[in-house]
Amino acid sequence: MNVLDSELVVASLRKEGYELTDNTGDADTILFNTCSVRQHAEDKIYSALGRLKHAKRENPKKIIGVLGCMAQKDQRLIFERAPYVDLIVGPGQLHQVPQLIADIAEGAGRQLEVSLGRKEGTRATVERSHESFDPLRDATMRPTPYQAYVRIQIGCDKFCTYCIVPSVRGPEQSRPPVEIVAEAKQLADEGCKEIVLLGQTVNSYCYREGDRKTRLSDLLHQLHEIEGIKRIKFVTNYPKDMTVDLLETVRDLPKCSEYLHVPVQSGSNRVLEQMKRGYTVEDYREMMERIRKWLPDGSVTSDFIVGFCGETEEEFQLTCDLVREQRFKNSFIFKYSERPGTKGAENYPDDVPDDVKRRRNNELLAIQNEISEEDNQAFLGRGVEVLVEGLSKAAVKKNETDSEQVQLTGRTMCDRIVVFDGNRRQIGEILPLTVYDANVHTLFGSVVTQHVGPELFSLPVSS
Ligand code: SAH
Ligand code: SF4
Repeated sequence: MNVLDSELVVASLRKEGYELTDNTGDADTILFNTCSVRQHAEDKIYSALGRLKHAKRENPKKIIGVLGCMAQKDQRLIFERAPYVDLIVGPGQLHQVPQLIADIAEGAGRQLEVSLGRKEGTRATVERSHESFDPLRDATMRPTPYQAYVRIQIGCDKFCTYCIVPSVRGPEQSRPPVEIVAEAKQLADEGCKEIVLLGQTVNSYCYREGDRKTRLSDLLHQLHEIEGIKRIKFVTNYPKDMTVDLLETVRDLPKCSEYLHVPVQSGSNRVLEQMKRGYTVEDYREMMERIRKWLPDGSVTSDFIVGFCGETEEEFQLTCDLVREQRFKNSFIFKYSERPGTKGAENYPDDVPDDVKRRRNNELLAIQNEISEEDNQAFLGRGVEVLVEGLSKAAVKKNETDSEQVQLTGRTMCDRIVVFDGNRRQIGEILPLTVYDANVHTLFGSVVTQHVGPELFSLPVSS
């Protein structure tokens, strides 16, 4: 979500004649797009702001801004902690950034634009104060022209007790399907092949117009009709809303990726209840059975929080058991970070010591890594199809920006990263590869060349 927000702000500033620079010394304007999900992300922003104090002293005309969730959460506190900041803009006001910068440059002084808090008005007024910011973009604004994020939902109403998102991103609102389809069509016209639909609980998407309801499954059918779009993914899913109509749609529509990110957070029912996730481990297990039944070749990934309030060693071991049992493609594991203003912070002490959280994080990661490596090894000798995204990390590091033959990276339909030697003109193509090596996070492949003659064979293609 934040990558998309940054992209849209950059796009709107480009229209005003701004250019990006790698060097903060050269910049007229420095903007931080921020995250509030964990304390660590906020600490990094405050120390980065600290490092800019001198830059502002040397050039008082430099405009420094803080955007996004931390701006919404801390508001004026940012001016207090870093008095040289000129601009604070919440995630619901990002469309105003170019105008606010222009006002500051003309001497209007510091600017602050944020949305209403969840209790600062009726639902409708709070919703309206979180304006979605999704202007139509052009291909040069995206990390690669072949892939794009498309927002289909903003905000969240689930209020998990550890999570700051519902207060900083506001009430859950689904975007009208006509707007989404129009955006996807424009992206396709610009050569975009893959769209990733975004929402905090994307599978809860539901747009109501009179008696008519459009659910995610209906939207997928509409998007599937767009000719240039070859792949459709959606993140992040909420376990309780993983309905059969959605799984059937993903199974039946060949452009839909069978990759599902459905965070479970913990393997203990007591912890899940205290997190107010709204399901039990048994419910999640049932959902996984449903996914495996409808999408036997699909892949599922999860998020976990370790060291949530009162988590015992036994409860943590239940989480380890669940990972071993469900064999996720991969897992994103986080140490619990208390967020002021959440029910978790109000009601439960953050009582698991940091070294215990760290140990549990490493232990769970080791279990997941072993599984990911084993599952990746099973791809050896198999054929896969990837959308080529660009140069591999190693090629970028070696600065192989000029040569034609380069190491490239692509992604399978099920979100596996495959690195291979190729030609830069293959970037943006969908290519068949055979896998010859694999480690925890990466498959290594080679381009399948066509054999002419009686030995023509077809490779089994996996996702
Ligand atoms: N909307 C998404 C997740 C948004 S936050 C969903 O519900 O799946 C991404 C992940 O950060 C969460 O899944 C959770 O694992 C983690 N997270 C959220 N709040 C956290 C906190 N206070 N401390 C540690 N991790 C947290
Ligand atoms: Fe946060 Fe829960 Fe909403 Fe995800 S579903 S954004 S974890 S409150």
